[in-house]
Order: sequence, then C-alpha cells, then structure tokens
Amino acid sequence: MMRQYPDSYYVASLNKNKLSFPAYNGENECDLCVIGGGFTGLSTAIESAKKGLNVILLEKNLIGWGASGRNGGQIWPDVAWGIDIIEKKYGLAFAKQIWDISLNAVKLIDQRIEEFNIDCDKKNGGITAATSNSKMKEYEQEAIYKSKTYGYENLHILDKAQVKKEIGTSLYYGGVLDRGAGHLHPLKYAIGLMNAAHNLGVKIYEDSSVESINETKNSVEVILSSGKVDAKNIAICCNAYLEGLRMNFKNRVMPCETYIVCTESLSTPLQEQILPNDYCVSDTNFDLNYYRLSESKRMVFGGAVGYSLKNVENLKKRTKRQLDKIFPQLSNLKIEYIWGGLIALTMNRVPDIGMESEKIFYAHGFSGHGVAFTGIAGKILAESIANGRTEELELFEKIKHRNFPGGRLFRMPLLVTISAMQRMADIFNV
Ligand SMILES: Cc1cc2nc3c(=O)[nH]c(=O)nc-3n(C[C@H](O)[C@H](O)[C@H](O)COP(=O)(O)OP(=O)(O)OC[C@H]3O[C@@H](n4cnc5c(N)ncnc54)[C@H](O)[C@@H]3O)c2cc1C
Repeated sequence: MMRQYPDSYYVASLNKNKLSFPAYNGENECDLCVIGGGFTGLSTAIESAKKGLNVILLEKNLIGWGASGRNGGQIWPDVAWGIDIIEKKYGLAFAKQIWDISLNAVKLIDQRIEEFNIDCDKKNGGITAATSNSKMKEYEQEAIYKSKTYGYENLHILDKAQVKKEIGTSLYYGGVLDRGAGHLHPLKYAIGLMNAAHNLGVKIYEDSSVESINETKNSVEVILSSGKVDAKNIAICCNAYLEGLRMNFKNRVMPCETYIVCTESLSTPLQEQILPNDYCVSDTNFDLNYYRLSESKRMVFGGAVGYSLKNVENLKKRTKRQLDKIFPQLSNLKIEYIWGGLIALTMNRVPDIGMESEKIFYAHGFSGHGVAFTGIAGKILAESIANGRTEELELFEKIKHRNFPGGRLFRMPLLVTISAMQRMADIFNV
C-alpha cells in the first residue's frame, strides 16, 4: 500500500509535487546509513554528503512524515525548558556553549533556505506572552539576564498595550519579543532539505523500515525485510517514532501525543487586528498554547489539548474553546484541519545527542523544541562521523539523561505527561 502523510493543512498547502523515492531492496555498502527522514536525518545526510561521504537514508514512511512535517513551525533558540536548567546544573561557561549552539541552530535554517533556495514561508519574530503580572516580571528579568550575561540582544520587552497591538488580544499582561525567533511551513522545509540531500547524492529510500541492526567488527549491518545495508557508520534519527530497534538510549525519551488545529483564513479586517507583523506566539503558562498565522492567514494553533484523535469532534471543540478565550473575535471561524504527532521528551528537556558505540550515532529527545535544534544536531553528528568525536558532541555527552521509569511504554498525552514529569523532576532532581 502507498504510504501517505497524515491529513494536515501542511499537506494541503504543498504547492509542488514531492519527488518520491523507491523502497529499499538488495544489499549495498556505504560510509553512512541514516535511519529516519525528518529534519535530524536530513541534516545529518546533507552535511555528511557535503563532506564527501557516500550516504544512504532509510525512511520508514515518507520524508517528513514524522514530527518534522507536522509541527507548529515555530523556531526558537534555547532548549525546551530554558538555558537556566543547564546553567544551574553545569555552570555558566557550559550553558553559554549550549546557548551558542542553539543560536547557530536558528541561523542554520536561514543559511539552508538561502543555500538550497527553499520556499517555506519563513517569517521572523516570536513573542512569549505572559498570562499574569508575576509571569511578566519573571520574563522581564530573564530578558535582562540573557542580554547581560549571554549577550543576546534580540529580546524586546513589550508592555500590555504593545502586546495587545502585536497579538490582537487583551488577555496578556505583557510579553517579550524575540527578533531571533520565527516560523515556517515545516513540510515545505523538510521537502526542501530532501531535495538538497538528493541533489548532493544522498540515496534516499522511502517505505523502508529498518528492523534491526547488527554491529560487527568493521561495520554495522542495517537489516530490512527487503535487504541489508552494510555501513561504516549509522545515525539513528527517529526521535519519538523509534520503534523496534533495541537501543540503550531508547528509554531516555518518552513519546507524547500533541495536536494542532488550523482554521479557515481570517478575513482582511481580522488580519489587520491579529498578528499584523506575523510573529508567532507561545504562552506556556496555561494550556501550553502556541500559535501563528500561516501564509494563507489561517490560525495554526497548537496546544496540549486532548487525549486522543479518536474523538476528533471533542478535541476540536476543546481547542476551539481555548482559541476563543484568546481571540473572541475568531469565534465564528471554522476549524478546517486537525492533526496530531509525537514529540520526544527527555527528563530535563535537553536533547540527547551522542554515540551508542564508535560506529552508532544518534540524536533525539528534542522535547517539542526541535525545529531549529534538529538541524544543528545533524551537523554535529555529521562532523563527528567524518572527523571523530567533536567538542560539541562531547559537550552533549556530558549532559546526564535518565531513563524514564517504565520506559516508552507510557505513551501519554502531553498534558498528562507534563504534570507527571514535573513531579518526576522533583523526585529525581533532574
Ligand atoms: C504536533 C507537533 C508540534 C510541534 N511544534 C513544534 C514547534 O512549533 N517548534 C519546535 O521547535 N518543535 C516543535 N515540535 C517538535 C519538532 O517537530 C521535532 O522536534 C522534530 O521535528 C524532530 O525531528 P526528527 O527528524 O528528529 O524526528 P521526526 O521528524 O519525527 O522523524 C523521525 C522519522 O523516523 C522514521 N522512522 C522511525 N522508525 C524508523 C525505522 N525503524 N526505520 C526507518 N525510519 C524510521 C519515522 O517514520 C519518521 O519520519 C512539534 C512536534 C509535534 C509532533
């Protein structure tokens, strides 16, 4: 049966036919076999091909089928829970290095859009909106600290009136505009990276599920039902969707379901009121809302809103209630698309990037914050694969990640997981 993308606004708004690639078959050798065709796998493949490696990429479904083709498209620097988590545990000098890597991750998106001429509706700027006065004070102090200590000059504090003007709601008490943040159409971006990898000579296979791997003295055998790849190195880039492969790192992430809804297009008067400068917004205070307008001026609204796509109508209603609370002026707007996807949480919400052995590399656990970080993670993997463990890889290997008790068996909805994790974080002091 032909593989398909899950139904989403992103699939409906693709303006070009995607190249399709054959399923893997036979026996071949290569320098690097990448498993997983999302942002991480594509980035690893691109950077490795640029270094002259002979690369095979195996994707179980379609390129961009996983979180990379379904996410909110929001680009933010930093790690998911904020750099202070790292600073507290590993010190300022260490945290500054991770912070700089996160800034490079954001820059890498613009560089690739330009280098590979990717048309993916990229816009600049994002607002973190405060849902209380005390939260606003916290954001303000954080912005001042980041500017003084990390030298980050992109943050601009917005008062209540300014936030109202920028977002179009009086719900917030203020916010911080990050001119370094932004948003894009993730599936167009993934397909753009796919084309780039293909043009660089990466051999891409879709509908090609890796069933097991077998490390031998000189290589790694990557086994599929229809054949085998004999690779000098492999990179496992499956994030929340990794199934089947028995890897030690597997239980360090927990896959969690999260959802996005997309409305019909806003009328012109509404477009003038709501997000007139096309910033994206994240308010992680109540209900984890994050939203933005698409190129066609639809509201793309994400949140940890429900338990299962099985009851779609119920999920739509609940999300709509959340959306209407922020934007009462959108209450007549129809929701035209709803889709879900899996994010991979780590206990401390910092990505887990490293080596399982001298030949097996991996990057996962982007914790819902991977649009930018996946790109640099792939670059770090590729540099280490070509030249041996780099300083950046060593930096990530120093970050301790704990296994989830019960491992990935607990596949939970995000909202439930977050509160459970908060308790676990306290118990285990992560
Ligand atoms: C609904 C949603 C909203 C999000 N919003 C944002 C956001 O706004 N901003 C942000 O920064 N991040 C966001 N994220 C997170 C972000 O999308 C991810 O961090 C990122 O896309 C992960 O990319 P990846 O390449 O590591 O994994 P994925 O894109 O998930 O790719 C993994 C691939 O591996 C393949 N695979 C799995 N097993 C095998 C196998 N055995 N053989 C071959 N292939 C295999 C899968 O088919 C899949 O295509 C969101 C995620 C979701 C689900």
